[in-house]
Amino acid sequence: MMTMDAQPDWQSWCAGLNGKTTVTGVFGWPVEHSLSPPMHNAAFAALGLNWAYVPFPVQPEELRAAIAGVRALGIRGVNVTIPHKSAVIEFLDELDDVAATLEAANTIDVCDGRLTGYNTDGPGFVASMREIGWSAAGRAVTIIGAGGSSRAVAAAVLREQAGRLSIINRTPAKAEALALLLSSGQAAQITTAGLAAAHAEEWVREAEIVVDCTSVGMYPHVDVAPVVPAGWLHEGQLVCDLTYNPRHTVLLKVAQQRGAETLDGTGMLVHQGAIAFEQWTGQPAPIEIMRQALLNALQQRPA
Ligand code: NAP
Repeated sequence: MMTMDAQPDWQSWCAGLNGKTTVTGVFGWPVEHSLSPPMHNAAFAALGLNWAYVPFPVQPEELRAAIAGVRALGIRGVNVTIPHKSAVIEFLDELDDVAATLEAANTIDVCDGRLTGYNTDGPGFVASMREIGWSAAGRAVTIIGAGGSSRAVAAAVLREQAGRLSIINRTPAKAEALALLLSSGQAAQITTAGLAAAHAEEWVREAEIVVDCTSVGMYPHVDVAPVVPAGWLHEGQLVCDLTYNPRHTVLLKVAQQRGAETLDGTGMLVHQGAIAFEQWTGQPAPIEIMRQALLNALQQRPA
C-alpha cells in the first residue's frame, strides 16, 4: 500500500489488470477530457485494490445500450457526466432522495444486479466548503447560475439548512424554475432574479456565501469580465467558483482583491469522486491522493 504523500504509479497499476479486476468508469460524450480516471485509478492503486476506472465515450442515443452493458459486463459502478445526468434516470432501478429531487444522477452503484442512482455533486461541494471551515447552515447564500451544477449546489445548501437562498441567473425564468423544483418541503426561503436586476446586487452584497455556478471564466475564455462586478464582493464573504480550469478564475482573483475568502472548483470535484469511491468500495477514499492526481492532470492541460 502507498503512503498518503507518495504518488502511486497508477499507469503501471493499470498494466496489471487481470481476470479478477473490478471495473468502474464514467459515461460521457465527449469523455476524453474527464479528470475522473486519474483520480480514481490513483485511489485504487494507493489502497492496493485490483480495481480499474475506465472512460467510456457513450453517445446520447447509445445510453440505454450502455446501461444494459453495465449489467451484462458486471461493471461495479459508473459515474455519469454531461450530457447523460438527467437522461440516465429512466434506465435505473432506484434513486436516492437527492437524485430523485434533482432528476439527475452522476453516480450509479450496482448491487445484486440493481442499479441505484446517486447525485454526489452537491454533497461534494458541501464537503469542499467544510474542508476550509465553512458551512451553509444558517447563512445567507447566493448562487449565480441555474444550470446542472446550480441545481446540485442549491439542493445541498438547502439540506444544510441555509438561512436564506437566492438564485441569480442571466435567464431569470431558469432561476424561477429551479426555485420551484427545490421549494417543495423546504423551510428556507428561495428568492430569484435576473443578473441584470436590481436585486442581484443586493443579494450578492448581503450574501455570506456566494457560489458562481456559471461557466463564465472557464478555459479558454479566461480573460472575460467576472460574472458580477468586483464592487459587489467584500471581506467576510466566502466566494466560490465551481470552475476548475483555471483554478484561479477571474471571479476568484477579484474576490481576493476585495478581501473575500475564496474556494475553487477542485475540492468539489475531488469530493464528489471520493463519495462515489466510498459507495463502490466501502473504504474511506484517500482524499489527498485523489486531489494530487487531479492537480497533476490539470497541470498537463492548457490553462
Ligand atoms: P450548465 O448547466 O450549462 O449551466 C451554465 C450556467 O451558466 C447557466 O446558468 C447559464 O445561464 C450560465 N452562463 C453561461 N454563460 C454565461 C454568461 N456569459 N453570463 C452569465 N451567465 C452565463 O453548466 P454546469 O454543468 O452547471 O457547469 C457550470 C460550471 O460549473 C462549469 O464551469 C463547469 O465546469 C463547472 N462544474 C464544476 C464541477 C466541479 O466538480 N467543480 C461540477 C459541475 C460543473 P443561462 O441559463 O442564462 O444560459
